[in-house]
Amino acid sequence: MILILFGPPAAGKGTQAARLKERHKVAHLSTGDMLRAAIAQGTEVGKRAKAIMDKGDLVPDEIVIGIIGDRIKDPDCKNGFILDGFPRTVNQAKALDELLKGRTLEVSVVIVIEVDEAALIKRVENRANEARAKGEPVRADDDPETFKKRLAVYKAETAPVLPYYDNQGKTKRVDGMKSIDEVTAQIEAVVKTAKPRKGWFG
Ligand code: ADP
Repeated sequence: MILILFGPPAAGKGTQAARLKERHKVAHLSTGDMLRAAIAQGTEVGKRAKAIMDKGDLVPDEIVIGIIGDRIKDPDCKNGFILDGFPRTVNQAKALDELLKGRTLEVSVVIVIEVDEAALIKRVENRANEARAKGEPVRADDDPETFKKRLAVYKAETAPVLPYYDNQGKTKRVDGMKSIDEVTAQIEAVVKTAKPRKGWFG
């Protein structure tokens, strides 16, 4: 299964992806995590990405497309994978289709986690406060102003990816305002009933 978890920043994609990975034994590909790892390792990609990410902007398409193109060749992606935070632009979505076509695969389903904006802002404030309380560093892009920028970038660049997949009949919406367990249950219901497509079983 090639499943895309789609939604605004802080919608809960990472949390749900970890659960899907556990339950269905598929790889979890988070471009945000991969970029943060590149920054931590001080690679060329990391150096290019850091300032952009800290500002809440999008890293150039060619960088993230390159990262994903390499990653999906890894053996742990053979049984399928979950994409979290990718694609974030229509260009990335088109590039993904091309990458998969080359391997006679296609996206199985796009699960859209819907959460309203006020709730997202609250969540990020809480996440920052919890980190501070534990004496841990707060992610630079979780600063309130930067988070608002990320929301604006989501609306301008990422939301247009939705009609792209709507037109392919691949989107399924879940209510992300519910508890974490309830969101998981909605996602599992989608996974169960989703129509098998190329790439669904491997
Ligand atoms: P969240 O899960 O809170 O939305 P992520 O960890 O997915 O945040 O992403 C953090 C940042 O990494 C983004 O704001 C962006 O700068 C960069 N990034 C991650 N994925 C992509 C992508 N597919 N395209 C461009 N930039 C990306």
